[in-house]
Amino acid sequence: MEIGEKSNKTLPVVGRFAPTPSGRLHLGNLMCAMLSWLSAKAAGGKVILRIEDLDAARCPFMGENTKYLLDDLAWMGLAFDGEVLWQSGRSAIYDTFLDKLKEKDLLYPCYCSRAELHAATAPHRADGVPKYDRKCWYRLQNGEPPPRDRKPALRVKVPNEIFGFVDGLQGEYSENLEADCSDFVVRRSDGVYAYQLAVVVDDGLSGVSEIVRGNDLLDSTPRQMFLQKIFGFSHPVYRHIPLLTDANGRRLSKREGDGCMERVRAAYPDPAPVIGALAAALGLLPSPESMRLKDLISLFDWSKIPRGAVLLPEGF
Ligand code: GLU
Repeated sequence: MEIGEKSNKTLPVVGRFAPTPSGRLHLGNLMCAMLSWLSAKAAGGKVILRIEDLDAARCPFMGENTKYLLDDLAWMGLAFDGEVLWQSGRSAIYDTFLDKLKEKDLLYPCYCSRAELHAATAPHRADGVPKYDRKCWYRLQNGEPPPRDRKPALRVKVPNEIFGFVDGLQGEYSENLEADCSDFVVRRSDGVYAYQLAVVVDDGLSGVSEIVRGNDLLDSTPRQMFLQKIFGFSHPVYRHIPLLTDANGRRLSKREGDGCMERVRAAYPDPAPVIGALAAALGLLPSPESMRLKDLISLFDWSKIPRGAVLLPEGF
């Protein structure tokens, strides 16, 4: 098992916040941005902002959600280092990494439709998606011709190998990629690159050394570690943070508007009470009080951050 904490401690920390602008942010996203930022700043490092707008249909370039997102981050006082990275402009870079997979004979076309994938009786992975049964790989081995009327997605063939790490908050996590996950898509049939490939390429090329993100992505990490190994990138430190929930332990609901930034901004023109309330919910302050982000840097300590759910502060 590889240890996530093995990165070179003499290099400055490079963190990142990588939102997908497919809707208006909510306080849970802001909490993630705040923790990524505070962690890197408390270690004297840098934080990059990357907009994960790979899917132009869901996230048009500089669409309304992206404009709100940039405005919400600026309102909070979250200043990032360097230029914002836009995944929508990086297809040519992803092409070169796709070529590396091709050269290693790890890619194959998959013609299966979504309905076929869901109809397959394969067991489900940790994220609830049915495990791919390698139908198209066997088809290729048997020399069967591909269906003529479809464009293929591209899948990467995973090894029968365990990829594991020690998460800074969630502890040990590992998967045998073949048994627990199976071959996954790196480019969709419409030509859009998949999150798993883009995230590894971008984190690797940006020198990201610490990844702070929601623990709904914990089970993506072994796939990403596999790609890091193939591409020759070192493994960053991972800290998968708990979700922000309501008082009943339920995930914030977009429909109910819980913690939605539209509502938060209407109620709080000044971010200081919002930052203070989040800091108290995270255990960084004994009770909510108005704070600026930069004043939290010296109070920041991962050992104070809860491993389990974080309750939405009262009044949000
Ligand atoms: N873009 C993803 C999201 O908004 C996060 C990806 C990541 O942090 O690796 O949920």
